[in-house]
Amino acid sequence: MTDLFASTSSTDNFPGLPEEVLTVWHRHSRLHTCIAIHSTVRGPALGGTRIRVYRDLHSAVREACNLAEAMSLKNAVAGLPFGGGKAVLIGDPATIKTPELLADYGAVLNTLQGRYITAADVGSTEADMDALRDHTRFVAGTSLSRGGSGDPSPMTAFGLLCAMEACSVQMWGTPELAGRHVAVSGLGKVGSEIVRLLLEQGCRVSAADPSKQAVDRASAFGPIEVVATDVIHKVDCDIFAPCALGGVLNDHTIVELGCRLIVGAANNQLSSPSIADGLAARDIVYLPDFVANAGGVVNIAHEYMGYDEAQARAHVQQIFTTTETILRRSGEQAITPLVAAMELARERLVTAA
Ligand code: NAD
Repeated sequence: MTDLFASTSSTDNFPGLPEEVLTVWHRHSRLHTCIAIHSTVRGPALGGTRIRVYRDLHSAVREACNLAEAMSLKNAVAGLPFGGGKAVLIGDPATIKTPELLADYGAVLNTLQGRYITAADVGSTEADMDALRDHTRFVAGTSLSRGGSGDPSPMTAFGLLCAMEACSVQMWGTPELAGRHVAVSGLGKVGSEIVRLLLEQGCRVSAADPSKQAVDRASAFGPIEVVATDVIHKVDCDIFAPCALGGVLNDHTIVELGCRLIVGAANNQLSSPSIADGLAARDIVYLPDFVANAGGVVNIAHEYMGYDEAQARAHVQQIFTTTETILRRSGEQAITPLVAAMELARERLVTAA
C-alpha cells in the first residue's frame, strides 16, 4: 500500500510518505475527494484544492500525495508555520461544483479539525473558497469582501521578482535588473504581473501565450516582444521565466534553452528531478519553483493568521534572502540549487517552526 503513497522525489533524504491520506465518496452530492496531509511538523498542512478529471482513484491519490509533499517543501523553505497538504476533487470543475458538493466537502474538512487548511488551486476559484467558508473555517484565500486577502497572484509575482534580484546578485553582482532580457512563458495572472514589474525595472521582455487576450493584457503594460509558445524557451536571454505549465523543462527543451538563469512561477517545472543536473551541466542556474513561487502561499498563510498586507509583503520579500542562502550553499557545496533547497526544507521539516 505504501507504494501508492511513496514520494516521486528523487532525493533519498526527504521523508516522502504522507502522514495521513483520506479518501471520501458521498453518494448524494457525488463528492469524490482525496486529501493528503504530507507533514504537520511545522503546523497545520496548508495547500490548495485541485479539481480535475482523473483516470482513476490511484492517479488522484498519487497527485494529491505528490502535490502535498511539494507544499511541505514550499512552506518549509518559505519559513511558514504550516505543513504541506493538498486535496483533489475528482471530476470536471465546470460541472461538479454544486452547492451540495461544496457543503459536503466543507464537512469533510471539518472532520480533519484543522489538520488541513485549503485554498484555491487549478480548477477551484476564490468564489469556491467563499462558498466553502459558509461550511468550514479551515479555508484561506477568500475574497476581500469575505474578509480574505483576494487573489494571491500579485504577491507571487512580487516574490518572483525578489528571487530574480537575488539571483542577479549572484550572477551579475547587482540586484538591478535594468537592461536584462527576460523571456516570460505564460501571461496569466502571475505572468502578466511579472511582465509589468519587469518593465517597471527597465527590463527587455519577450513573452508568449496562446491566448490573444492574455497577450493584449500584458502588452498594455509596455513594449514586449511577442514570441510563439513553442520557441519562447529558445530565446537568447538572461532569464527564462516559465509562468504557465509544469514539465516545461524536459530532455527536449533543456538542450534548446537560450537563457543563463531560470526563475519562474509555474509549479513542477522539471519533468523529473534529474533535469536539474542537466541544467547544471549546461551552466544554467535553475532556482527551484517551490522557492521562487512561494509568494502566493505566504500571502494566504498570513490571511489565515490575521492579515496585514505590509507584514505579508515583508515576508514575501524574504524570498530574496532565502534565494541567496540556497545559491550560496549550492556554490559552497558544489550541489545544484534544487538539492540545496531540498536540504534547507528537510532541515526545517525536522525542526518545529
Ligand atoms: P493562469 O491560468 O492565470 O495563467 C496561465 C497562462 O498560461 C494562461 O494565460 C494560459 O493561456 C497560458 N498558457 C497555457 N499554455 C501555454 C503554453 N504552452 N505556453 C505559454 N503559455 C501558456 O495561471 P497563474 O495563476 O498565472 O499561474 C501560472 C503558473 O504559476 C501555474 O503553473 C500555477 O500553478 C503557478 N503558480 C501560481 C500561483 C498564483 O499565485 N497564481 C502561485 C504559485 C504557483
